[in-house]
Amino acid sequence: MSAHSMSSLTKTDCFIEGHWVPTEARFTVTNPATGDVIAEVADADEDLTQRAINSAEDALHSWSRKSARERAELLRKWYNSMIDNKQALAELMSAEQGKPVPEAAGEVEYGASFVDWFAGEAERMDGDILPVVDNSKRVLVMKQPVGVCAAITPWNFPNAMITRKIAPALAAGCTIVVKPPQLTPLSSLALAQLASEVGIPDGVINLIPTTDAKTVGKTLATSDKVRKLSFTGSTGVGKVLMQQCSENVKKISLELGGNAPFIVFDDADVDSAAEQLMACKFRNGGQTCIAANRILVHESLKDDFVNAITQKVKALRVGPGDKEGVDLGPLIDTDAVDKVQRLVLAAKSDGATIETGGHVLSDLGDLFYAPTVVSGVTEDMEINNEEIFGPVVAISTFETEEEAIEKANNTPFGLASYFAAKDTARIFRVSEALEYGMVGVNTGGISHAYNPFGGIKESGVGREGSKYGLDEYLEIKTITLGGLG
Ligand code: ADP
Repeated sequence: MSAHSMSSLTKTDCFIEGHWVPTEARFTVTNPATGDVIAEVADADEDLTQRAINSAEDALHSWSRKSARERAELLRKWYNSMIDNKQALAELMSAEQGKPVPEAAGEVEYGASFVDWFAGEAERMDGDILPVVDNSKRVLVMKQPVGVCAAITPWNFPNAMITRKIAPALAAGCTIVVKPPQLTPLSSLALAQLASEVGIPDGVINLIPTTDAKTVGKTLATSDKVRKLSFTGSTGVGKVLMQQCSENVKKISLELGGNAPFIVFDDADVDSAAEQLMACKFRNGGQTCIAANRILVHESLKDDFVNAITQKVKALRVGPGDKEGVDLGPLIDTDAVDKVQRLVLAAKSDGATIETGGHVLSDLGDLFYAPTVVSGVTEDMEINNEEIFGPVVAISTFETEEEAIEKANNTPFGLASYFAAKDTARIFRVSEALEYGMVGVNTGGISHAYNPFGGIKESGVGREGSKYGLDEYLEIKTITLGGLG
């Protein structure tokens, strides 16, 4: 199959039973860099949600009975198709989400890597034979697909947040209904088109874009036919869905908000720490749930570190995602810009110093925010306690290791954390003391298909990626054979 162009991959209807299903009601998807309307997308309601659930239920029997090898082969074809169409997928993503095209291409590769990984895992869903006390018995443990799954995903990674739910679901033998984000539905619809082209059977993947997340979400969460819900988004919505899922004790995975600390200890290499911080702070303009939010720097390194990071931040180039050489695109919408601006100005009026940035780049448009460094942040400031979700480095200081750990853990969240240090004993001590699902030591890059990704505390339950990510879509069945003695 020859590669698609961006326009041939722009699909705008719901995808149910393997068909494109239009609706009379439509909603607009705009390019955040220009405000231009790029598509009018179908707006699913409760009836269509039920239809999508029925479609997934109808497809379940034959999909779950395919051999693991057959499912893996189809997933690999889908993976290859994503890679073949990387450029078109990246352009489409950049247009609806704003990130620079090369960064979007990186996300396509990252998203596709989950499909490749879980194609492999599909063939490794092995069970156990357990030793038993009673000689007349044998106990077998087998893993079976959960059944029909539902997924609700956010706008910041329009491709990868979808693939890391669909791929393990399909590998396990489940079928799925996905409610993509209202702001960025096009990347997910393009993936459905590719899945259909490579022969993933009708009804195995269903997509229902909507403006009515509340109704569609509740329908998915409370349906008796849906046996599992996987959600990535805000903690507030996650709590609502968790409550709704309790109605029929649905299996759930939740990947929610974070407030990631990034600690620079006195034995760290300042330049390398600043480099790592750049990687995990400015991906997607800071709009990621694992972006470093609170930068805690040892008092003795403060001036050096602030200098090093400010130089790097000043060198970032901001512009529309389709312009060459751009590092950072626009923020997603005016609410995002207002929030970032509010946090920065509040920090300033509470005594923090703006080292660079601190304003909207209005020459470029309303949604472009200048990459910013704020120093002199203290624990009580709002910027320290809220997820900034924007291109702002907020720096505070500490004096002892204990103080750094205590400050880092002083949050209801527990998704990602990072620190820079050289001493081996400290590396183990601090890694074990941080109350987080993930710790990056001397690296800002912790997201890989082979890593278990997820949080503790109010950052969620369950893991995505890795062999553990497959378990979320499997049930364990214990078979006790008697009368063998
Ligand atoms: P974000 O700040 O990333 O947009 P949200 O939690 O608001 O976080 O959105 C994540 C996903 O959850 C999106 O697909 C959104 O449409 C969906 N969503 C928002 N509100 C609800 C709800 N009440 N029930 C189910 N899904 C919802």
